[in-house]
Amino acid sequence: MDMTREKIGQTLESYDKKKLKIATICSHTALQIFHGARQEGIKTIGICTPNRRKVYEAFPLGCPDEFIEVDDLKDIPSDELLEENAILVPHGSLVEYSGDLLSSMAVPMVGNRDSLCWEKDRLKMFEWMKASGLQVPATIEPDKIDRPCVVKLAGAKGGRGYRVVNSPEEFYEHFEGMNVTVQEYLIGVRVYPHYFYSPLSREGYHASEGHIELMGIDRRFESNIDESYRMEKVGLSFTPSFTVVGNELLVVRESLLENIMEMGRNVTETADRLFGGIPGPFCIETVCDENLNFFAFEISARIVAGTNIYPQGSPYSAYLFNEPMSMGRRIAREIKSAAKQGKLPKIIF
Ligand code: AMP
Repeated sequence: MDMTREKIGQTLESYDKKKLKIATICSHTALQIFHGARQEGIKTIGICTPNRRKVYEAFPLGCPDEFIEVDDLKDIPSDELLEENAILVPHGSLVEYSGDLLSSMAVPMVGNRDSLCWEKDRLKMFEWMKASGLQVPATIEPDKIDRPCVVKLAGAKGGRGYRVVNSPEEFYEHFEGMNVTVQEYLIGVRVYPHYFYSPLSREGYHASEGHIELMGIDRRFESNIDESYRMEKVGLSFTPSFTVVGNELLVVRESLLENIMEMGRNVTETADRLFGGIPGPFCIETVCDENLNFFAFEISARIVAGTNIYPQGSPYSAYLFNEPMSMGRRIAREIKSAAKQGKLPKIIF
């Protein structure tokens, strides 16, 4: 059965606010989340498989204070977490592994879990992006493919299995009968801004009842497309692929910030209207073309892996905080502020 805000509110009410813990699956942005919580003095719990534990122990400052070992990362140990006053931080792996279980999970989660359903469903995500006034790539029927298009597998994560096709014939050769989305290929520079929306205070860039902070921007490194010039140089022919391998720092020309902040504000305010808001971290995946127009092809309604570049803060968080502030630390700080103000249900569902 789906969890209600009322039920999660009761759970939060029953928690010992002085002993709140932050929990997440050991994957994706976990090192950063544990590191940030430690900086804010909050204890942490890592849910991991036995063989993964040593990886986290190899990084003492990013290692959780305690581990709960599970055989399958899908099995969130809800009862144990509830006993520990734990708040889950959903990241990309948690969303992928837990899938449909997210809405019924008894453990309180940072942000609005309803937003994760909007991120998982491409039709809903496009509805959200369009309602936010973002320009988006055309979605094209397979029979009408007349230009380079990216074909995206349903539920595929990190770009795995995507392929560019140029015609209906090429599409049917590779994707006949499969559940996929065909999107016009966007030309330009990929820009992934990381936002944090706080409904708890109204400083800086106003959005909805609070404000948004631009915590950083990244660009991804995808295999093999991002090293294609090397293959071309040595005379290899290859099929472009888009599997995300890592991320790199990006700073945009300063005049683009106006657009970036407005996109964030619009996405935040539209989330309010559509599904009750998006407190906490989110990211809009965009391509900026040669006329400096942004096109958005995805929203991640949670912390993104690109934030891992900035455990000590970013070239943007430097202008927001007088101390190193990662997204992981920002989340922990928001939990602390909300607990102090008696407003946990505002940022946790
Ligand atoms: P996604 O799973 O939507 O985040 O996409 C994975 C990667 O595929 C992105 O980081 C981009 O490099 C690439 N990609 C996705 N959609 C498009 C698009 N419409 N045009 C160009 N590249 C895209």
